[in-house]
Amino acid sequence: MSLRIPLAKPEVTDADREAVLEVLRSPFLSMGPKLEEFERATSAYAGCRFAVAVNSGTSALHLALKTLDLPPEAEVILPSFAFAAPLNALLQERLRPVFVDIEAATFNVTPDAVEAAITCRTKAIIAIHTFGRPVAIDRLRLLADRHRLRTEGFACEALGAEVGGRKAGSFGDVGVLAFYPNKQITTGEGGMLLTSGQTLADHARRLRNQGRDPSLDWYQQAENGYSYRLSEIHCALGLEQLRRIESIVARRQSLASLYRQQLSSLADILTPGLEVSSGRLSWFTYVVQLAERFDRQDRDWLCDRLLRHGIGAGRYFAPLHRQPVLNHAFSQAHLPITEHVADRVLALPFFNQMTAAEVEEVCHRLEESLGELRRRT
Ligand SMILES: *Cc1c(COP(=O)(O)O)cnc(C)c1O
Repeated sequence: MSLRIPLAKPEVTDADREAVLEVLRSPFLSMGPKLEEFERATSAYAGCRFAVAVNSGTSALHLALKTLDLPPEAEVILPSFAFAAPLNALLQERLRPVFVDIEAATFNVTPDAVEAAITCRTKAIIAIHTFGRPVAIDRLRLLADRHRLRTEGFACEALGAEVGGRKAGSFGDVGVLAFYPNKQITTGEGGMLLTSGQTLADHARRLRNQGRDPSLDWYQQAENGYSYRLSEIHCALGLEQLRRIESIVARRQSLASLYRQQLSSLADILTPGLEVSSGRLSWFTYVVQLAERFDRQDRDWLCDRLLRHGIGAGRYFAPLHRQPVLNHAFSQAHLPITEHVADRVLALPFFNQMTAAEVEEVCHRLEESLGELRRRT
């Protein structure tokens, strides 16, 4: 469906196109110089010793879990208010998800909620910076150390976000980034594993390329691996995009503040805060919440209404603990805030090149549609 104002739109510049064409004119389409350059630039930006590029954020997450080398059936703590990727990676590795509730104002877990979920079987925490808002990863790191847990700082939605001056993705034993077209920067498809551990990085490099050990003969397969490589074409695009990351983060912050100004007069819409204490947001999506008295049907109605006006609107996330793939295993889970929030969130159009006039139009249509909704209910 083609919308006048889409929910997300990748920003691809002439310099990006030229970088991709340059690769196509070269003899290296995979495992070449752009891969090394992209990895080096990303690790330098994130403040980690190593970065390992792979073909998606989910692949990076999967390799992160593999390299953490957790025992079978170990419990891994994560929010239920999240994308499908972490659940898929956990299920694939036969690890047991333990879902914790979030805070409505930040969409993130709190260290207290995570601590309360720790048992003797807990072996790892997947910390997610939801929608680009940094979670208290410094405190989660301390908690993990105290309980001897491995952590995965999951920055798929938060490239450029910071906690205490350090980049999201650099706090865990492993961190994960994603470059799907709706993210802050994109490679089309792609992801990155971040770590400061040499052994972890070497292991991830082996796993992404069929389990082959680069120090041995090319055909020596050291272990069961995957085909998760990222092509030179993707890496060249990512490298160009990464050069602009600081201006992208600033642009998205100003769009978020424009939205907040315009929506602050709408009593039934709760807008996300623009600042975080001792950190920096890197806006992935702009997600508002409907007031308590509305329900999921109201939200869906509003969403359809906006779509009918040619405006992209999203209803994520659906809680992971309610996903059919889990076969009702978590139907007793007590995650009231997650369920409350999931029924009332509404993602609005948000992309680097969005104009002030487009923000204004979205807000105007939202106000108008909200008026119609009030008259219906
Ligand atoms: C983008 C994203 C991913 C990774 O998605 P891929 O499509 O596999 O790159 C994972 N988790 C979250 C929360 C994301 O936003």
